[in-house]
Amino acid sequence: MATSNALLLFAQAAVYFTVMMSLLRARKAIGIGVFMCALGVMHFLETYLASVFYIQLPFGIVSPGSTVLFSGKLLMILLLYIREDALVVRQPIYGLLIGNFLIVGLVMILRYHDTVNVTNGNSPDFAFIDEMGLLMVWGTVLLFLDSILIIVLYERLGDWLGRHLGLRFLICGAVVLTFDQAGFFLALHYVSGAPGHVFFGGWAAKMVATVVYTVLFVLYLKYFDTEKGWLTNRPLKDVFQVLTYRERYQQLLEASIRDHLTGALDRSQYDQNAPGILERNLLAERPLSLLVIDIDHFKQVNDRLGHQAGDEVLKTVSRLLTDNLRSDDHLYRVGGEEFVLMCEKLPVDGALSLAERLRKTIERFTKVYLPEKVTVSVGVASAPVDGHTVEDLFRTADQRLYEAKEAGRNRVIGPGAAA
Ligand code: GH3
Ligand code: MG
Ligand code: MG
Repeated sequence: MATSNALLLFAQAAVYFTVMMSLLRARKAIGIGVFMCALGVMHFLETYLASVFYIQLPFGIVSPGSTVLFSGKLLMILLLYIREDALVVRQPIYGLLIGNFLIVGLVMILRYHDTVNVTNGNSPDFAFIDEMGLLMVWGTVLLFLDSILIIVLYERLGDWLGRHLGLRFLICGAVVLTFDQAGFFLALHYVSGAPGHVFFGGWAAKMVATVVYTVLFVLYLKYFDTEKGWLTNRPLKDVFQVLTYRERYQQLLEASIRDHLTGALDRSQYDQNAPGILERNLLAERPLSLLVIDIDHFKQVNDRLGHQAGDEVLKTVSRLLTDNLRSDDHLYRVGGEEFVLMCEKLPVDGALSLAERLRKTIERFTKVYLPEKVTVSVGVASAPVDGHTVEDLFRTADQRLYEAKEAGRNRVIGPGAAA
């Protein structure tokens, strides 16, 4: 009996892995939601199995029947992370947590129903539902911690195990599932009265499950996929920030230093940060370019269309500028209709073509989508050729902007020649 139970568990692991891996693999074609929902619905069965379904395994081990499914889910979360990223994997992690809290919350209301007995003698067993509810809440809180832990550990191990994906996978599974077993057993013990040997039985079963899944994963990599897509190297700090939604918090903090109308950084940020950014680049002997961008005849736009339409024009121009930024570019709104764009690692010729591209984009876009065409003039200055301080660069770029206005507007002027 014990042997056939063990074989049944192998069969479960193989079926579970094959189906979930196929969904993960096909995610580009069918959408990642299919994988996530399949992962989510399994949770109910796991909790049920953990609570009442125990099986005899070889060597006198007794294990909850949920082991294979639970271990599989955690490892699937890890695989989803490896294949996608923290931004994607945090969705099921939080979804599972919230969904289970919701179930427990709903059961609290549900219990006040007067039920009617229509299916011979099957009446609701609230004591059982309560027990499952408690296990569910505890189980999902643990799963939440497990998921973050396993991802962080996986990245950590990357530093010294790099390419050994199977080994990283195995260690992560073993460590985190041991932690999980300790946590979950506490609940089983106090809620369902599970005896001590169940801790060991469950742990042993989880370890075997980890080995089985690792073998399946390694076989999968060998025969069905290339390792390339699975090798990631992500900064640990960023991963943790995203998993805990901290990057959203930072964005929230940043919102207060952004200009409300256009979303660009405001003048005070320019005064505060620009000198440091320049200094950093000069020290590293990297070029930096500064563009002063001013909307042409903006006063007339306001006069003809009204102040509110003027605001819309400002927003549009700012958005067009933002859409064309690289991560090393910093856009500031330094005056009413005047922007400064600081571009790290960008030498003067690159800056001139960027400025020209921005100018054209604004002209073309507004011609089609706004009541009247809006144009900008741009003055460009670059460090180190045009100066070593932000004041020098700004003065030079502003001078060139003035020249551009004098020369008839809607143009870019940089060192030497007009672009
Ligand atoms: P030029 O081509 O020489 O740059 O002409 P201009 O009319 O753009 O130049 P000027 O600097 O004389 O006018 C800028 C105008 O921008 C004046 C002001 O009414 C308008 N302005 C400044 N801030 C805002 C704003 O937040 N919203 C709106 N709608 N208008 C603004
Ligand atoms: Mg202007
Ligand atoms: Mg101006």
